[in-house]
Amino acid sequence: MTPAIALNDGRAIPQLGFGVFQIPPGRATQAAVAAALEAGYRHVDTAAVYRNEADVGNAIRASGLPPGSVWVTTKLANADQGASTARRAFEASLERLGLDAVDLYLLHWPHERRLESWRVLEELHAEGLARSIGVSNFLVRHLDGLMARASVPPAVNQIELSPFLYGTRADTVRRCAEGGIAVEAYSPLTKGRRLDDSTIAGIAAEVGHTRAQVLIRWSLQKGFVPLPRSSNPGRIAENAAVFDFALDDRQMAALDALDEGLTTGWDPARQA
Ligand code: NDP
Repeated sequence: MTPAIALNDGRAIPQLGFGVFQIPPGRATQAAVAAALEAGYRHVDTAAVYRNEADVGNAIRASGLPPGSVWVTTKLANADQGASTARRAFEASLERLGLDAVDLYLLHWPHERRLESWRVLEELHAEGLARSIGVSNFLVRHLDGLMARASVPPAVNQIELSPFLYGTRADTVRRCAEGGIAVEAYSPLTKGRRLDDSTIAGIAAEVGHTRAQVLIRWSLQKGFVPLPRSSNPGRIAENAAVFDFALDDRQMAALDALDEGLTTGWDPARQA
């Protein structure tokens, strides 16, 4: 059973989530989500821009799991940010997912219209349509600007985090801790780009687990909510089998030291 993290709105989020970015819409996403639910994940992370919300919803319904037992996160696309467009975009996501409410709705990016969008998210939260609300790719200045004006603070900030992008994000992680904001770690496997790193390989050999499991375990022990993605049923199960071992302080410190400011996608440091 996946442990849960307490959120600042009184809810609890399963600490391991399954990411579906870049998994093609249709059968590929349905098969991946089905395999993830089979492997024990109870948390799926999608977004309007991933174009696979409908498949996530279908796979969850087809699983036969009791309604409400799988945490579903989706995100407001940049093209829909703004006071007049955000609500319609949310309703379209809800309809594609086939749900009455989502567990977590995020601003996907600190877009220039983020403050007006956040007002809409606060309304959706008050109406119970978005049970928790949060942000993604927000760095310190984005968080501070939002927190100064928000009525409801974000429950979550989803940012890229791995040992290779850790010290570089320390200020953001600290600000989240100060604000009681849970941190979700996206691209926790560096999209596969650093799985051949020798420190990771050495620690994996020491603990008798795989390199991907070491990266996910590092994230869990930091208190983050890692969101690994895979389309391969074996690797989907492997990435969920991370609760029967632990990294010691020396291993954690060796991983922390790998920071090189690696961003594998868009870098929010460029966003004013
Ligand atoms: P990840 O860091 O999760 O890496 C995924 C890659 O790693 C795939 O190529 C996968 O290949 C490979 N992989 C997965 N498991 C293993 C394993 N056990 N051994 C070896 N290789 C493995 O990438 P993402 O960028 O997708 O990040 C994860 C999730 O985070 C996304 O799906 C999305 O939900 C979220 N995200 C959010 C963003 C945001 O802006 N808010 C931006 C980016 C991601 P294979 O499929 O063949 O196994």
